[in-house]
Amino acid sequence: MMNRAARRFAFMLFPVMIAAAQAGPLTQLKNTAQAEAAPAPSAGEPSRHTRAADALYIKVTANEEDLAAIQAGAASFERDDIGDRYITGYIGRQDLAALDKLGFRYSRTDSRDFRIPSGKEALKGYHTYETLTSELQELARKYPALASLTSIGKTVQGRDMWFMKISKNVTQDSSKPSVRLSAAMHGDEVVGTELTMNLISLLLENYGSDPRITAPVDNLEIWIMPSTNPDGTVLRQRYNAKRVDLNRNFPDFNSGPGSPAGRAPETVNMMNFLAARHFTLGANFHGGAVVVNMPWDTIAALPPDQAYIEAVSLKYSKTNEPMYASHSFPKGITNGYAWYKVTGGMQDWSYYYQNEIHLTIEVSGIKWPSGDTLNKFWDDNRESLLGFLESALQGVHGRVIDKSTKLPLAAEVSLQGIDSKAVSSDASGVFHKLALPGDYILSVKSEKYAPYSQPITIPEGGLFDFSVELSPL
Ligand SMILES: [Zn+2]
Repeated sequence: MMNRAARRFAFMLFPVMIAAAQAGPLTQLKNTAQAEAAPAPSAGEPSRHTRAADALYIKVTANEEDLAAIQAGAASFERDDIGDRYITGYIGRQDLAALDKLGFRYSRTDSRDFRIPSGKEALKGYHTYETLTSELQELARKYPALASLTSIGKTVQGRDMWFMKISKNVTQDSSKPSVRLSAAMHGDEVVGTELTMNLISLLLENYGSDPRITAPVDNLEIWIMPSTNPDGTVLRQRYNAKRVDLNRNFPDFNSGPGSPAGRAPETVNMMNFLAARHFTLGANFHGGAVVVNMPWDTIAALPPDQAYIEAVSLKYSKTNEPMYASHSFPKGITNGYAWYKVTGGMQDWSYYYQNEIHLTIEVSGIKWPSGDTLNKFWDDNRESLLGFLESALQGVHGRVIDKSTKLPLAAEVSLQGIDSKAVSSDASGVFHKLALPGDYILSVKSEKYAPYSQPITIPEGGLFDFSVELSPL
């Protein structure tokens, strides 16, 4: 990881380098990328110069936006793959010192790890869009009381974005906390698709017989989208079919909540769907590293509810052996910004604007590993996924009503004395606030009502039930 000072240094150089690179490598790369109708499976750009005989393959901790700076300083750098917070490529030995000087951290690696297998080999053990669709439809038919399948809209190429809702009495709207999981918004990071498909089957097939499975299905609304960018997966690329990086396509902190207009259809569908519902907790799955990435990605400050966020993240990593044993990330977790700044991500948007505590979980070092290794990934993540669902049942929930009319009330509910985000009650007056076990002062406010507060104790591994009637002023 590049330290802050070095990163700032690289950032200061950036404008100068943009000027130097005009009509240079960056521009050419961009044009090539746009003109490319069917990108090569490796997502690599065609080589424009002869690679030095002594070229090394390296993985640089950097953003896509850093590419121009890297190429201006180390001209021989030839980008191969772009990951969430790294760029891989070939570099002549003579340019390594230049990269050091720019302050970028890098490691030598094996180019084969970043190659997406081609043809039928790539699909062995994986769902295709067609098998994924038919399997989800079949499960919804087989478990009508527990599972319901919704398409939240179409992709650029007309594929459905499927969300499977799983809950007891699934067809009724409930006052349960809702959790959502989504995978493969980077289309070539496909392990999460298989993990979430397995989770769907696990929940549906064991409901009623295994209490560990029954409890979250009884007490939560669980929404799972195994394929967030199906076009990208079919094209075996990170981007959507118009080469938009969906995890850089959401409104940012400083751009305001932003309208969906002008964004990729996949982003628009997701924004509209999420804004219309109140999700309590969520995660989206990626590949290219093995770590739980916590908010914020956009700014250095720690987010509100940091203690809860870190505890949920550690709960996930602790039961995932390779993640917890990570050499790169102590205990398998990291603050997003401390790893590398990302703007326009779904994680920060979800928490900042939608009040859904959201994590980005990187589940495989290799983005598209051989299908015969998928069982191992499931073994590593199964317990963590169940634990994550259970984390949505830790806190306080309840209902706010008007004392005189007994009608539900829109109110703001917050925990005093800790840095914590307030939540709003929904149209039924229901609210959910995630928090660690402990003693708090809970306060409830609504315009034209007398404010209310009360000491509460949130139990270990459970919800404090709380209902309040506010008196009109
Ligand atoms: Zn990703």
